[in-house]
Amino acid sequence: MTRTEKNADAPLAAASLDPEDWSDFREHAHEVLDLILAQIEGIRDRPVWQPPTDEVVSYFSQALPPTARTMDDILTGVREFVVPYATGNLHPRFMGWVHGAGTPVGMLGDVIAAGLNLNCGGRNHVGIEIERQIVRWTQEAFGYPESSSGLFVTGSSMANFLATIIAKTEAIGVQSRTQGLMNISRPLIAYTSAEAHSCIAQALQLSGIGSVNLRQISVDDLRRMRVDELDRAIVADRQAGAQPFLIVGTAGTVNTGAIDPLDEIAAIAARHELWFHVDGAIGALGMLSAKMKPQFAGLEKSASIALDFHKWGHVPYDAGFLLVRDGAAHKRAFAQPAAYLQRASEGLAAGETWPCDLGVDLSRGCRALKTWMTIAALGTDRIAASIENTCALARYLATLIGKSDRFFLKAPVSLNIVCFGIHNAGAESVRDIVTRLQLSGIAAPSWTTLDGELVVRCAIVNHRTTAQDIDIFWEALNQMTKDDRV
Ligand SMILES: *Cc1c(COP(=O)(O)O)cnc(C)c1O
Repeated sequence: MTRTEKNADAPLAAASLDPEDWSDFREHAHEVLDLILAQIEGIRDRPVWQPPTDEVVSYFSQALPPTARTMDDILTGVREFVVPYATGNLHPRFMGWVHGAGTPVGMLGDVIAAGLNLNCGGRNHVGIEIERQIVRWTQEAFGYPESSSGLFVTGSSMANFLATIIAKTEAIGVQSRTQGLMNISRPLIAYTSAEAHSCIAQALQLSGIGSVNLRQISVDDLRRMRVDELDRAIVADRQAGAQPFLIVGTAGTVNTGAIDPLDEIAAIAARHELWFHVDGAIGALGMLSAKMKPQFAGLEKSASIALDFHKWGHVPYDAGFLLVRDGAAHKRAFAQPAAYLQRASEGLAAGETWPCDLGVDLSRGCRALKTWMTIAALGTDRIAASIENTCALARYLATLIGKSDRFFLKAPVSLNIVCFGIHNAGAESVRDIVTRLQLSGIAAPSWTTLDGELVVRCAIVNHRTTAQDIDIFWEALNQMTKDDRV
């Protein structure tokens, strides 16, 4: 008699999803580790990037499978159709966009966290303790007090959004959480530079304040926010009856790596009693370098900082972070009373503040372990040295451009990003050259638009990149533009 005939509702003797044969599974697990470590170790000998083929697309266009496939079959698919078609950011000549390169040790952290299946929304377990360790380390790195609070999030887009919500809640009161913006008489206004990341405007949109209420302050020759303009705009808005509430400075802009004059912005924010948030997605970890620290003067005076361990910190994606000076304000903006989230003095429900009190996620993975393992295994000196090196490589590339009569530097190199134009090449031609370089597998730069002009953009973030990689890129670029006779 089959189970269906007998009693379809009866419990199964064994419904577990664990492997049927642990020793067989263990072999496959070791095989996976060997596969991925070989990929990372030998990355330099592979193309930077290649587009997913038709075969790859069709491999991932199959119907929902009711029955199991063998691990051998699945790992063949992974080897052939997944590993070779990754983003490209492991490779030392990936220079398009600001992407971290990851580290093998960080990967192990993710393997462990996934294996333990830590849920870091809250409760009393080690995942929460590790996150607290990272909060304390960031407090130390950024000169924040012990009463400040921190939270792992997906990335700086989310961290900037959460900071906007906290600043708004502080500006108009905690009742705005229930009332919304209905009862405010004056429009809330935020300020950032024209070079700020697009997620700042999005944060204003999502918050309900609206991005029409974001003033995009013009920039100087170094593409930094003009503080005189900032001050004037705040005064004008106040006179017009609006309510300025937030200034977002950027430590390392996405286009060119420019650092806003954070110290002067901090003074203006203090004078006008506004929330001073820093988008440090790219640059904030530069604070780990004693040599670079002075460039970020004023960052320690901010009310909150968004940063990405997954960029210059090379923690595997994703590992964004928000640090908030006033930990109580942070909690006021997000904590929800809920019967099933009640706290206790001991047991699994112990702990006064849980990560779910500080953001929108309840269930969340453990981003802290891979971050802890990366920092613990490398030490901040070594991470700082790799950060400094990417800046040195950017200056080296800028020198090559400076000596060339085919290319010209389009923006000053403040950190690790180099933007340059090609003489006598229109936008179409620049796009074509960059695309062909990406398709060649030799190097992957990107492009951006500066002052209405399409330019090549090289963001040198990767800790594996050497001067020789810059030379190889340069040679390929020169070859390609020569063939083009641009
Ligand atoms: C990358 C970046 C962001 C967005 O961060 P994510 O981690 O990608 O969400 C925001 N601001 C700046 C300056 C960035 O470079």
